[in-house]
Amino acid sequence: MYAAAKVELSRCTGCKLCILACPDPNVICFLADDKKVKVDVTRCKGCGLCVAVCPKAALALEALTESEPART
Ligand code: SF4
Ligand code: SF4
Repeated sequence: MYAAAKVELSRCTGCKLCILACPDPNVICFLADDKKVKVDVTRCKGCGLCVAVCPKAALALEALTESEPART
């Protein structure tokens, strides 16, 4: 069992604080077209730093099963 950050898009304002907080610059991508973010769950380590800084409570750690994409 793993955990990875999940974005509730209806709450995300695109402030980018989560991108700045994430220790890996390639995990959270900013979607310029709709001004929201997405998380690459295959790279997310589940550290929770992005969850802690999000001012809109748009991020949460979600359990992943082993049948879901493995992390590198
Ligand atoms: S910190 Fe929260 S509101 Fe800001 S871009 Fe990330 S998910 Fe969206
Ligand atoms: S849980 Fe950690 S590794 Fe995953 S997106 Fe958030 S800050 Fe990055």
